[in-house]
Amino acid sequence: MSDAVTWMEDADLATSNSLRLPSRARWLVSVPNAPAAVDALTRASAKGLTLWVLGEGSNVVLPPRLDGLVLRVSDEDIRILEHRGDSVRLRVGAGVHWDALVHWAAERDFWGIENLALIPGSVGAAPVQNIGAYGQELASSCIRVQAVERTTRRICWLDAAACAFGYRDSRFRREPGSWVITALELSLRTRGQAEVGYAGVRDILSELGLAGASPVEMVRAISTLRRRKLPDPAELPNAGSFFKNPVVSLATFEQLRGRDPDLPGTATADGIKLSAAWLIDRCGWRGFRRGGVGVAPQHALVLVHHGGADARALLALAADIAASVRDRFGVQLEREPTDPVGPEPAGASAPDGPGWGLKD
Ligand SMILES: Cc1cc2nc3c(=O)[nH]c(=O)nc-3n(C[C@H](O)[C@H](O)[C@H](O)COP(=O)(O)OP(=O)(O)OC[C@H]3O[C@@H](n4cnc5c(N)ncnc54)[C@H](O)[C@@H]3O)c2cc1C
Repeated sequence: MSDAVTWMEDADLATSNSLRLPSRARWLVSVPNAPAAVDALTRASAKGLTLWVLGEGSNVVLPPRLDGLVLRVSDEDIRILEHRGDSVRLRVGAGVHWDALVHWAAERDFWGIENLALIPGSVGAAPVQNIGAYGQELASSCIRVQAVERTTRRICWLDAAACAFGYRDSRFRREPGSWVITALELSLRTRGQAEVGYAGVRDILSELGLAGASPVEMVRAISTLRRRKLPDPAELPNAGSFFKNPVVSLATFEQLRGRDPDLPGTATADGIKLSAAWLIDRCGWRGFRRGGVGVAPQHALVLVHHGGADARALLALAADIAASVRDRFGVQLEREPTDPVGPEPAGASAPDGPGWGLKD
């Protein structure tokens, strides 16, 4: 792990977001650990700079200019803290690439995150929306999260209850601009069973001639499934699902089904979860293109950037899609990717020109 803190002025973030939206940051700092994050927060505050936290940029809509400081955590350390019975406790730095962790765990036969293979992004961002796929979510294996509270600059460990994980949700998402996550502790299992209940998983296992008997087999199966279903951001820039699946009451669901008998819905503890992709598809958006932005032909939930556009064009398209779903079904779609938000700085805005140096 590198202990270096690196600073860059007028940083180009176009290749640091999976939508490849043009964006520049006045300053970009990369910190290796929580104390260095505290130091960067202190400097940003002293200079009256707005601060944003960025991981790998796969779930954000970056504006053309971030006139402040963008902070990234670079800790790429994965460490086994303890083996006890059938479980193993890990400490993972926020800068680890999520899929690298999934492979690292699978190669050691550790169960618990294998169905989360190929989700883009960093470990540090994983708790923010409690990443999930194919019947697994981070919350099931997360013991605690190390984070810096931005207002007090205290380094704390929040246990899973304090993280208040929900469906694509957590305290970190609900308190935007309040935390810098620097590491996670996870509990994985040395003995386990494949979770194959989710649509398509059994089929892909049998197609590949796999039994799902090991985490490595599951990672292979899930990765194959995902590559087929979702456009690769390296080929067609996107941020994955652009809207969350809305949850409605049973009464609303039955009313909607009266008009659209093929409307899919899944019962959850909070109500009936609808498929946002189905709703958008039914409104005719799949494959739509307007200038440099559009909707993926493979998946109505994935908004794409063909090139030459910026955040404004993408957000305008997202707003039009949400409005058409609301008009037709009376259902409000909620966006999944966030803006890289941060609280307004307490002091005056930072002075420009010679002599202003955040690094000093
Ligand atoms: C093709 C594709 C498929 C996807 N599939 C899935 C899926 O199946 N399931 C799923 O859950 N998600 C999915 N996503 C969304 C995305 O992968 C996750 O949200 C991921 O956790 C984002 O990681 P990141 O490092 O890119 O975060 P960023 O996009 O950089 O940041 C996302 C948010 O987290 C905040 N943040 C980032 N790092 C930190 C930190 N260290 N401390 C505090 N806040 C932080 C940012 O400020 C921002 O608000 C997909 C995305 C793509 C592009």
